[in-house]
Amino acid sequence: FAPWNDPGAKPYIHFDKVTKKFGDFTAVNDLSLAVYEREFFALLGASGCGKSTLLRMLAGFEEPTSGRIMLDGQDLAGIPPYRRPVNMMFQSYALFPHMSVEKNIAFGLKQEGMPKAEIDKRVAEMLKLVKLEPFAKRKPHQLSGGQRQRVALARSVAKRPKVLLLDEPLGALDKKLREETQFELMDLQQELGLTFVVVTHDQEEAMTMADRIAIMDKGQVMQVATPAEVYEAPASRFVANFVGNVNMFEGKVAERSGSSVRITGGTGAQIMVENAGEAAKDADVAFAIRPEKIRVSSKRPADAVNALQGEVYDIAYLGDMTVYHVRLDDGQMVRAATMNATRVVDDPLTWDDKAWISFRPDAGVVLTQ
Ligand code: ATP
Repeated sequence: FAPWNDPGAKPYIHFDKVTKKFGDFTAVNDLSLAVYEREFFALLGASGCGKSTLLRMLAGFEEPTSGRIMLDGQDLAGIPPYRRPVNMMFQSYALFPHMSVEKNIAFGLKQEGMPKAEIDKRVAEMLKLVKLEPFAKRKPHQLSGGQRQRVALARSVAKRPKVLLLDEPLGALDKKLREETQFELMDLQQELGLTFVVVTHDQEEAMTMADRIAIMDKGQVMQVATPAEVYEAPASRFVANFVGNVNMFEGKVAERSGSSVRITGGTGAQIMVENAGEAAKDADVAFAIRPEKIRVSSKRPADAVNALQGEVYDIAYLGDMTVYHVRLDDGQMVRAATMNATRVVDDPLTWDDKAWISFRPDAGVVLTQ
C-alpha cells in the first residue's frame, strides 16, 4: 500500500474515458480520473455537473455509455451493486423508522447471512466507533440530526466496504454541526483505513475534508489537486472563480523575460508577475489574485511593484477580517481582505476615500484558460 501522495502509488479507482449519456444529454463526458487507496477524495461542482452520476456509476446504479471503471485492478462492468466492494451513504439517510439504532446498523449484515454472534460484535464495534453506545435502543425519531447521520454512517461502513461513497453527506445538518461532523468523518476515515469519495457542491466542505479535490463542470474534470493547490494555483479562470473569492485582471502579455511577465490591461494598467508559468508574449491572459494578497492604503507604498489607484467603495467588518471593495479608476471593482488580528490601523480609510491597492509580483497566478 502506497498513500496517494507517494510517487509509487497506483490508481485504486480508475475512471477511464467514461461517458454517460441520458438520451441526447451527456452527463459525463469522456472523463478520466484516478483515486488512490485510503484517499479522502472530493468531487466538487455546481448542481448538474455530473458528480452524482459519476458516483452512481461507481456504485453500479448506472452503467457507463462508454469507457470503463476499474477498482483495485478489476473492471466493474456488469457487476451488480451488491457485489461491488463499495457502499453508498445518501443525504436522506434512509434509516428504517420502526427499527432501533442497533437494528438499523445490523440490517445489512443480517441480509448477508452473517451469524448472530458476529453481527452483535460488529454492531457493538460500530456503535463505539460513532460514539452512539448509549443510544443503541432508540428509534431514529428519538435522535438529533447529527446522531441520525452517525447511525447512517455506521450502517454504511458495517459491512466493511473498501470504498465508501458519500453523496452530500452533511447536506441536512446546520452549519455548526456540519463543521463538527466534517472532522468526525475525517477521523473515521483514518480509523477505518477506507477510501472515501464524497460528492459536494460546498467548497469549504471539500477543502476541509479532502486530500484531493476534482473540480467538475459540464461532465468534465477541470482540475484535480490538493485543496491548497486548487486555491493557490488554479489551472483556469473557472477553477479560480469556483473556489473562494478572487480578483481577475484581464490583459495581454506585453513582455516576457525569463519566468517574469508584464501584463497590460485594456485601460493601460500594468502588472508585473514573477513565476508566471508558460504564458507567451501577446497571449490573452488573466491575472488572478486572492483578496488577502492585496493591500489597501491611502498612499502609494514606496516599495510597491504593483500599485493601482481607485476609491473605497465599501468596507465590511466580518469579525475575523475586514473586506474592502475598491473601485479602480478604470471601473473595475477589487476585493481586498485584511485579517483583523494583524491589521495595522494607522491608515484609517473610509468610504469614498482615494486609495491604492498594491500586491507583490508573486502574489497571484497568470491564467491562459
Ligand atoms: P446535483 O448536485 O444537483 O445532484 P450533480 O452534479 O450531482 O447535481 P447529476 O445528478 O450527476 O448532477 O446530473 C447531471 C445531469 O444529468 C443533470 O443535468 C441531470 O438532470 C441529468 N441526469 C441525471 N440522471 C438522469 C437520468 N436518469 N435521466 C436523465 N437525465 C439525468
